[in-house]
Parts: sequence; C-alpha cells; structure tokens
Amino acid sequence: MTRVGFIGLGNMGGPMCAHLVSAGYDVTAFDLSDVALARLVEAGARAAGSVSDCARGAQVLITMLPAPPQVEQVLLGEGGAIAALERGAVAIDMSTSSTAVGARVVSAASARGVDVLDAPVAGQSIGARAGTLAIYVGGSEAVFARALPLFEAMGDRERIFHLGPNGAGYTVKLLLNLLWFIESVAVGEVLSVGVRAGVSLDRLHAALVGSPANSVFLERDVRMVLDDGDYDEAFPMRLVTKDLGLAVDLARDVGMPVELTALVEQIHRRARAQYGDDAGEISAVRLYEDLAGVRLRLERT
Ligand code: NAD
Repeated sequence: MTRVGFIGLGNMGGPMCAHLVSAGYDVTAFDLSDVALARLVEAGARAAGSVSDCARGAQVLITMLPAPPQVEQVLLGEGGAIAALERGAVAIDMSTSSTAVGARVVSAASARGVDVLDAPVAGQSIGARAGTLAIYVGGSEAVFARALPLFEAMGDRERIFHLGPNGAGYTVKLLLNLLWFIESVAVGEVLSVGVRAGVSLDRLHAALVGSPANSVFLERDVRMVLDDGDYDEAFPMRLVTKDLGLAVDLARDVGMPVELTALVEQIHRRARAQYGDDAGEISAVRLYEDLAGVRLRLERT
C-alpha cells in the first residue's frame, strides 16, 4: 500500500489524515502539536518526530497547513520535506496557499524529480470529518490520476476538480472563498436593513430564498447564524483574512483592479479586529447585527 506522509493535523488535516488511515494507507503523520499528533496515532497513523522524518520514504506527502509561510517553511525551509523526498514521490499541498509559494515549491521539487500538486479544499471541518470535501487540483494530468484514489478517500468523488497546471487549484479556491465572503457581507447588510425596516426576518429570509437573488450562502450557510447564533469558529477570522489577503494579491498579480474585493477584505478585517482572531468565519454578519442593534434569528424551527 502507498506510503503516505501527512503534515498538519488541525481542524481539517486531522480528519483528512484519519480517512487515509481508514482507507488502508500506510500513514506517517507530523504536527507541531503533540495533542493533534496523539489523536492520529490513536486513529492508527505512525508518529514522525519531524518534518523530514515524516517525508523520508513517503511516496506521497500531503501538507495541510495554515498559510503560505508555514507551507514554505515545511516544504522548503531548513529540514524541509522536499529535500527529504525521494525521486518519483509526489508532494500535495492541500492548504489554502498562494501561487507564488506554490511556484517556488514546484521549482525546488522538479530539481529533485519530485512531482507537485496544489489541491486546496472546501467544505468546512464538517466536510473534512464526513469525507465529503470538494478538492480543487492544479498539476499535470498524470500526477492527478496517481493521486485521485487518495483524494477520493478524503473528498466527494463528484467534486474533485482537475483545473489545470500547477497553481490552478490555489487560484480557484481563493476565488470561491472570495465569492462566499462577498456574499456573507451582502447577506449581513441586506438582512439587517430589512429587519430595521420592520420586516420579520422569517418572512424576509423566505422571500429572498424564493427570489432570483437566492444563493447557497443565503439559503443554507447563513442558517448557522440565523438558527443557532453560531458564527462557525471551526474556520477562524485569522484564516478568513489570510484568504482574502491572498485573493487581493492574486488580483494584483494579474493586473485587475478589484474595488469590491478590497472593500470586502477590509470589512472582514474589521470583524476580526472587533471579535478576535478566533471568532467564527461568519462574523461579518455580526458586525451588521451590532450596527443595526438586532440579532438576526429565525423564529421558525
Ligand atoms: P488549523 O490551524 O486547525 O491546523 C493547522 C495545523 O498545522 C495545526 O495543527 C498546526 O499545529 C499545524 N502546523 C502549523 N505549522 C506547522 C509546522 N511548521 N509543522 C507542522 N505542523 C504545523 O487549520 P485548519 O482549519 O486545519 O486549516 C488548514 C488549511 O485548510 C488552511 O490553509 C485553511 O485556510 C484551509 N481550510 C480550512 C477550512 C476550515 O473550515 N477550517 C476549510 C477549507 C480550507
């Protein structure tokens, strides 16, 4: 069975790695957190003592780390994984990271005969636990085909997308997050204005869901807030603002002015400053609730 190294066992990487163990892969895992590592050892993975220890002998190395600096450190830094991988191995970064770091990884890896895929995911920690993540892959068709069985062990096979050469996965992931976080601001603004104007939230929400302005965010995702006052701390604002910053960088790199994106990024940064780094990803809606002096909660169950 394929020998897999897995680095980064947090909210997402922990359950993703556990799915690979359950699928029968021979998994060696590493995380800076002993607690996170112990959880995977309990699930059946072998513990590595360091990044390079985890990469040595792996045919496939997966990283699921917070942001580009950690991805660069783990893959290319001192004692990094790429230098420890053997010729013919595949390094798959599933973090939401940048095409700039990705390009440096590809360049170092190809010099050593190591193949690379970028394969960030969507579906929240619930999807990671359920094994139903959507996966957005950049890299060659042949390497994608080799990695597909691993992706199928972690994701929903109907939503594993091969999007183009290296970098295409990061690009699409940053754009889908951007669109979702634009919608969260729009929905927070619209619902709080409607309630302040005296319309019942239940009727307003039902009417908008049945209208041409409906979206998955409005119909499904914002319900965490409207039903339970849950702003989803499994994806904290420190990662939200990281992703939006990367989306602004991406637009700048391709020479596109993105006024809306810049404004939306600032609104989420305000929400992070207001409610804290660990506040939930839908905290922008809370900004509007506080501005309007209301809590957006549905009466119906
Ligand atoms: P997390 O902070 O829960 O986990 C990251 C893990 O990486 C931690 O366990 C940390 O100890 C470990 N780590 C950090 N630096 C390390 C290093 N140098 N060596 C070894 N381990 C190290 O983050 P997460 O929520 O699991 O997110 C991981 C990635 O997935 C991020 O890029 C995030 O943007 C993306 N993502 C998250 C979600 C979500 O809902 N949480 C959804 C989609 C994508």
